[in-house]
Amino acid sequence: MDASRAAQVMEALHQLYPEAKPELHFADPFETLIATILSAQCTDKRVNMVTARLFPQYPDAFAMAKLEPEELEPLIRECGLYHNKAKNIVAASRALVAQYDGKVPSTRKELMALPGVGQKTAGVVLLAAFGDDQIPVDTHVFRVSRRIGLADGNTPEKVEEQLRAILDREIWSLGHHLIIWHGRRCCHARKPECARCPLDGGLCEKHMEN
Ligand code: SF4
Repeated sequence: MDASRAAQVMEALHQLYPEAKPELHFADPFETLIATILSAQCTDKRVNMVTARLFPQYPDAFAMAKLEPEELEPLIRECGLYHNKAKNIVAASRALVAQYDGKVPSTRKELMALPGVGQKTAGVVLLAAFGDDQIPVDTHVFRVSRRIGLADGNTPEKVEEQLRAILDREIWSLGHHLIIWHGRRCCHARKPECARCPLDGGLCEKHMEN
């Protein structure tokens, strides 16, 4: 697919989802980081339920760093993978206190040095908390981009690199939300609803094997 068709794909998705925005709830960079760590293999709705109880009790890195992972586990159990997530959240909070006076750093390198923070989580924090132009690749972006033909990489990192190359920088952040919304609402993992998809008229290359 060339850049002009990719721009048409984005335009069609924007018309379909003019209200596309993050669906995780957070109020500051610390909440963004914790909510994003919790969102691995969990729905945003469930994360929002958990953080609505968690953040009033532990609103910053100083409060969270005082917990032991075993104390945090029951509070985030509903998000799944709670053992690792609790370990990472406490360790990341302690690193923020020790190295950044409790603040979340704003560079990819610093973020990715924190426990539990990989390429996608760093991208989401940079986008959502610091307003950077980013196009983080989660499970929806990976699947839908490859189906449409915006990318064909075999790893999220490769797909992110391809999306950065084919899309104008100013659409990266919105494009991230548009593709996620489409993956959640129409281009489902198992049964994509192509019959009602506006990209079905020739814009989607429908690489359905993924
Ligand atoms: S046409 Fe089908 S595969 Fe392509 S984006 Fe739409 S729902 Fe997904």
